[in-house]
Amino acid sequence: MEPTGVLVVGSITADVTAFSRRLPRRGETVLGDDFTLVLGGKGANQAVAAAHSGAPTWMAACVGQDPFRDIVLSGLETHGVTLTEVRTVEGRTGVAHIRVDASGENDIVITPLANTSLDEAMVTESIERVRDRVGVLLLQLEIRTEVACHAAREGATAGLTVVLDPAPAQELPDDVWPYLDIVTPNESEATVLTSVQVTDLESAERAAAWFLERGVSHAIITLGAGGALSVTKERTRHFPAYAVTPVDTTAAGDAFTGFFGGALAAGLDVDTAIQYGMAAGALATTKAGASPSLPGRDEVEPMVNTSMEGATR
Ligand code: ADP
Repeated sequence: MEPTGVLVVGSITADVTAFSRRLPRRGETVLGDDFTLVLGGKGANQAVAAAHSGAPTWMAACVGQDPFRDIVLSGLETHGVTLTEVRTVEGRTGVAHIRVDASGENDIVITPLANTSLDEAMVTESIERVRDRVGVLLLQLEIRTEVACHAAREGATAGLTVVLDPAPAQELPDDVWPYLDIVTPNESEATVLTSVQVTDLESAERAAAWFLERGVSHAIITLGAGGALSVTKERTRHFPAYAVTPVDTTAAGDAFTGFFGGALAAGLDVDTAIQYGMAAGALATTKAGASPSLPGRDEVEPMVNTSMEGATR
């Protein structure tokens, strides 16, 4: 039997969020209404989503030696992510410092700290240790670019299905693209990377072609309430979004990628895996926050089953 696990190589942060009626002006102090401290980071969010999908999930990452370490590790553990590949390094755990006003407008400073200590040797070692149990490798760009690229090469060589969510968008070396089986940019990431202004399905397809020309096998452009466009050499297919009433769209993309990766690792076909990702993304928008808004399999699965029954009727 093929291994059903997911390995996420990526970032972990403590998300420190202050809520106030309005954001302070430069140099100003305002009184806030609420404050939260939760597990975050694109890597950690995707690992939590993959674990929620039911996949055995490992995370290769670095945390520091400070009180935030215990908070993020216990967050990952509570959500079922295996911690054997998380290293504790000198210094401090990564932090995202977030301010949110009453209208939901926010600003964020991410300080990577320990995340910059994740190196090529650690990644090689982690892939070596878990390769018999995982089928899918999930990558994002909140760790050092060279390390993410190294993970892509090593993962592909180990026979894993390599999925890159190119977020935050940044230029990558030309030689990395052929190692990627799937990329999952959203509209703005696809726009930054390809210089095609993605505004509709036609422009999304042109952006997808940019990735395929560089050697990626499959581009999935996520389009928020517009669903997702799946493009391979053989076929282009648009998946309309699930209808929900969004409250906060933070982490929709992470929910998408985590559930998509978990479903692929479970052996589901890629179209069904996209449905899982989209249902998870839609559900994530119905709750406030990042990691606390990631849905469970018990919510995602019925949504997917209902839509697939509808499709075959
Ligand atoms: P990101 O959070 O990275 O910007 P998207 O907003 O594209 O990513 O969301 C990822 C997926 O989640 C989309 O492809 C879609 O299926 C689902 N999704 C996101 N926003 C909504 C929404 N408002 N309504 C329904 N589904 C949504």
